[in-house]
Amino acid sequence: MPELPEVENVCRGLVNTVVGQLITRVSIRRRDIVCGLKRPADMLSGCTAARIDRLGKQIALVGQTANHEKAPDLRACICIHLGMTGSLRFYPQGEPFKPDTHTHVVWHMSGGGRLAFRDPRRFGGLWTFDSVTALNETRWSKLGEDALKITPTALHKKLQQTRRPIKSALLDQATVAGLGNIYVDELLFGCRLHPLRAGCDVSREETQRLVRKMRALLTKAIRLGGSTLRDYVDTTGRSGGFQHLHQVYGRSGQACPRCRSLLACTTVSGRTTVCCESCQS
Ligand SMILES: [Zn+2]
Repeated sequence: MPELPEVENVCRGLVNTVVGQLITRVSIRRRDIVCGLKRPADMLSGCTAARIDRLGKQIALVGQTANHEKAPDLRACICIHLGMTGSLRFYPQGEPFKPDTHTHVVWHMSGGGRLAFRDPRRFGGLWTFDSVTALNETRWSKLGEDALKITPTALHKKLQQTRRPIKSALLDQATVAGLGNIYVDELLFGCRLHPLRAGCDVSREETQRLVRKMRALLTKAIRLGGSTLRDYVDTTGRSGGFQHLHQVYGRSGQACPRCRSLLACTTVSGRTTVCCESCQS
């Protein structure tokens, strides 16, 4: 599943390709993938792609209508969640593009390019909003702060409120938005924290370290194009490179890169979890 680094790479790809272009036509090939659709303008048909926002693993494509001078705040937007297998690929003019049964939405751009949302397993989806404010006040109000922006104080306050294992708390998008199974396992290993430690037992100092390591880990993963396990590709169809640097994720039974004990595999919140029982306390 794409997590923050992969989604951030998709956002950067969108900024480089669709932002600033007029969306001339939108073809919705599978209607039930879109929530809240009332009229074509909801899909930004006839709007300029003005901006890309991101909160955690969710993307907002913000459109600007022709009469925006009268109502500058009324910018329709589409929230896009890639789910497990979703992708947003941009095909520049001249590049062959053949939609298949899993291509659910295609935006046709004034420059001749096309942006395609494809999602074979359909755990992802699109949600339309009349304004960015509406998105922020509803769907995004349920999410915690973005993992690249949350402060140690804010995270410590959230962790203090839960007896759940730290891993479960970090996977919960209401605690902090953007982390999933890969980066939580890597992060907890990096911080020497055991995934089953209760959230409320994590000290202020440990949380400071956690936030520092989280930013460093995510920033490095973004720089390397994210992690590709099976499906993830960016807007140009390129796979990530960070999977080659995973220290514990997917490595159960192998030697711990720090102490050489064998990495253990457990289940936390129903998710396969790999950790080192000797160096994660
Ligand atoms: Zn170890």
